[in-house]
Amino acid sequence: MTSYSLFRQNVQQNQTTCELAVEYYLQSIEQRSDLNAFLTVNTDDARQSAKEADVRFKDDTPRPLEGMVVAIKDNISTKGLTTTCGSKMLQNFKPVYNATVIERIRNAGGIIIGKTNCDEFAMGSSNENSAYGNVLHPINNEYVPGGSSGGSAVAVAGGLAHTSLGSDTGGSIRQPAAFCGIIGFKPTYGRISRYGLVAFASSLDQIGPFANSIEDTALLLDTMSGHDPLDSTTANLPPTQSFYALHHHDDNVTVGVLPDEMLEGCNEDVISAYHNCIQKLRTSGYSITTVEIPGKSAWIPTYYILATAEASANLSRFDGIRYGFRGPENEGMDVFTSTRSLGFGPEVKRRIMLGTYVLSSGYYDAYYKKGQQARRLVHNGYKEIFAACDVLFLPTTPSTAFKFGEKSKDPVSMYLSDLYTVSANLAGIPAISIPVGNGANSMPLGMQLQAAEFEDEKLLRIAKHTMDLFA
Ligand code: GLN
Repeated sequence: MTSYSLFRQNVQQNQTTCELAVEYYLQSIEQRSDLNAFLTVNTDDARQSAKEADVRFKDDTPRPLEGMVVAIKDNISTKGLTTTCGSKMLQNFKPVYNATVIERIRNAGGIIIGKTNCDEFAMGSSNENSAYGNVLHPINNEYVPGGSSGGSAVAVAGGLAHTSLGSDTGGSIRQPAAFCGIIGFKPTYGRISRYGLVAFASSLDQIGPFANSIEDTALLLDTMSGHDPLDSTTANLPPTQSFYALHHHDDNVTVGVLPDEMLEGCNEDVISAYHNCIQKLRTSGYSITTVEIPGKSAWIPTYYILATAEASANLSRFDGIRYGFRGPENEGMDVFTSTRSLGFGPEVKRRIMLGTYVLSSGYYDAYYKKGQQARRLVHNGYKEIFAACDVLFLPTTPSTAFKFGEKSKDPVSMYLSDLYTVSANLAGIPAISIPVGNGANSMPLGMQLQAAEFEDEKLLRIAKHTMDLFA
């Protein structure tokens, strides 16, 4: 697995070229088509961009991401390049504009190699909900790669791109990163523009990178972040400079850890890896403190009430009239009904029904309003947590990757596997998953670090240091 930072050095020392890298990745994508990670490959444009990147390197004018080969989750709009969201509903949909992140990556010299498979409209934790088939885990095909950004995780873990982008509404970057043994980062809500990201739950969604190194993660954050007039929820802040800040030193870092009862439900591998990592942190000089986690029992229910409520509103635009799939007007159904009946898969329908229910006038106070109140408690709870520590250290997932079919028949057990990831989205804070070795089934294990809002740079710095410790 190559990191872009290493590749860039090699190009600068004339040991390789961007054209060679693109050819290599195009070939690998074809050879590993069994993984089903890519839905569209951007062959011609990637080749052309690679040529231009090589000229820039020759002229000694490379931009920050010059020649970085990036795979893009298929719910991020790419001009003229099919963007399906893993749904039949958008089977042939070619956006007429680029998402802001795509513009920024291209302007910085990044090469878009293709679009990656994902759970339909980013709803899922295993990639079993894509209308285009499962994405397979690159280490063992019987296991899920995680979701919903499974294709993007596999693109990096399987050596099909330097880096990739996913979207994280409740863990969809961090969880597949953990399952695949790579880095996955969800920045602070509002750090990165969502313009052009097809909305699942707008108040929770955030775009972020997958990578093999913290350096690459930082480069992508610095390129994509910063205020965007096209997304009024972006923070009015300049782009981060986390890459240059990676070598700063933080004195007296206190790491918060979970009380034992919060590990109930984790499998043995995760618990023992968690304790080992804490021991390593302690011996390397970090202060460790066990923190109370207020409102933890509300995390999953609050997330699934609010996310489905927002999803039901966001997905109402898919009506068969303006774009995308259109169902037939026969068999006693109108176009609207047949479009939505035939265009959406079962998990998306389940969420629309749940979301419509919690928003309905008779139940609004009991569910949606309560959910909003509980969200405030989660947010305030994190204020208390970060008053006691600089970063919170916790597992990314209660287990390593599970097998296909293991949870797909029982949605609640699937939802419960998001236990450690959804709270960061509810609170809007940055969170990163880093690889820490393998579990007993030889599948990768990930641990998570979370920090207070807008502490993205510090979080990446501490993640770099801890990753070196765990390596
Ligand atoms: N697994 C979670 C869900 O199904 C998270 C999805 C996401 O982050 N996009 O909702």
